[in-house]
Amino acid sequence: MTVDTARFATRAVHAARSRETAASRATPIYLTAGFEFDDFDHAADHFSTGAGFGYTRTGNPTVRAVERQLAALESGADAVLVASGQAAVATALLTVAGAGDHIVSSTHIYEGTRGLFLDNLARLDIEATFVDDISDPDAWRAAIRPNTRALFAESLANARNDVLDIRAISDIGDEFAIPLIIDNTLATPALLRPIEHGAAIVVHSASKFLAGHGSVLGGVIVDDGRFDAEHAGHNAPHLVLPGRGDAPSVFARHGGRARIAYARESVAPRFGASPSPLNAFLIGQGVETLSLRVERQSQNALRIAQWLEQHEEVEGVDYVGLTSHPDHELGRRYLGGGFGSIFTFTLRGGLPAARRFVEHVQVFTHMTHIGDVRSLVLHPGTTSHAQRTEEEREALGVHPGTLRLSIGIEDVDDLLADLSHVLEAVRETVA
Ligand SMILES: *Cc1c(COP(=O)(O)O)cnc(C)c1O
Repeated sequence: MTVDTARFATRAVHAARSRETAASRATPIYLTAGFEFDDFDHAADHFSTGAGFGYTRTGNPTVRAVERQLAALESGADAVLVASGQAAVATALLTVAGAGDHIVSSTHIYEGTRGLFLDNLARLDIEATFVDDISDPDAWRAAIRPNTRALFAESLANARNDVLDIRAISDIGDEFAIPLIIDNTLATPALLRPIEHGAAIVVHSASKFLAGHGSVLGGVIVDDGRFDAEHAGHNAPHLVLPGRGDAPSVFARHGGRARIAYARESVAPRFGASPSPLNAFLIGQGVETLSLRVERQSQNALRIAQWLEQHEEVEGVDYVGLTSHPDHELGRRYLGGGFGSIFTFTLRGGLPAARRFVEHVQVFTHMTHIGDVRSLVLHPGTTSHAQRTEEEREALGVHPGTLRLSIGIEDVDDLLADLSHVLEAVRETVA
């Protein structure tokens, strides 16, 4: 029986079936759970070697295309795309650490990541030690233990815009054969590529600048492909020892790419935070315009930061692009083509002024997100950083009058006009 002679319900399901290949220039969206096998042996081969495509949780051509694109932009060897930035951080950590292991992390990290370390990885018996003064190599060195399996930091952090000296910290990692994992979400590969400075693994919330339009979530893990079994094998028994049933080790099968292979074969598909092929497509499309957006956003942000710094209602601006920022010189060394577009500033009028501010914006959107084409504002003290103690908030540069901006691609004069009118309203409250 062919589909033509089949009954209505069968035709509805099968008539569109196609095995055509067409050289689509844009990345095709393979919105499918699975892929038809050519024959019996093809299916068996796929299950034994993992080659080709069988089921979207373990591999999908649209997702694969975006992984190639992001690995290339981060100067990495390979990448794994997952469903969110949180999934990327969790997958990266579970790729290098297990029960009884330890990680050393910067204090200046995304609150969701901090929660993951303190609440979730802790319950899996992966303990974290936090480094406050991330510019002090000795502070990192002192935190390392025999069971430390990763150093973790953000290349450019929120809220104080701290810049990490990636080379200095990756050198310490090398000394102890521990990979440095960098969350490069705020800097983006358009401004900074951590692997070029010695980082082993880069993670992103692709929900931010990479996708760029605030419409989808995603995350990515990019690996340098330089896992060295001789040097680092003792810190990664799961990569160098034979697998279940005496199977060849991950390193024996994948060499320098053992870490990312383990993330792809074992961690990401088992914990299961797989990306939708449609979301992968939107991320890939976003990435095509990344450099243009980041260039414009950085220009706009610098203008706005300079303008705010001069404004009488403003007590201070923490933007690494300003010469007044303590990490400005480090920023010049690591960031090329702009200083990013996420920063905080603090109003003299404290909490009432901040409340007035977010309630009066018109062009800016009051929302918890960053890296969007639209300009956004959030009050960290009562939102993202509300779980911290007041003392911790102060140390992190989050005061009652502090607001976080994520600058978009709008005409900067319209953004300045909006801020001008809002600060006028702020002045009236305080007066
Ligand atoms: C948003 C963000 C994350 C988490 O990403 P999601 O895509 O929201 O899961 C991690 N790190 C940084 C720096 C972020 O800004």
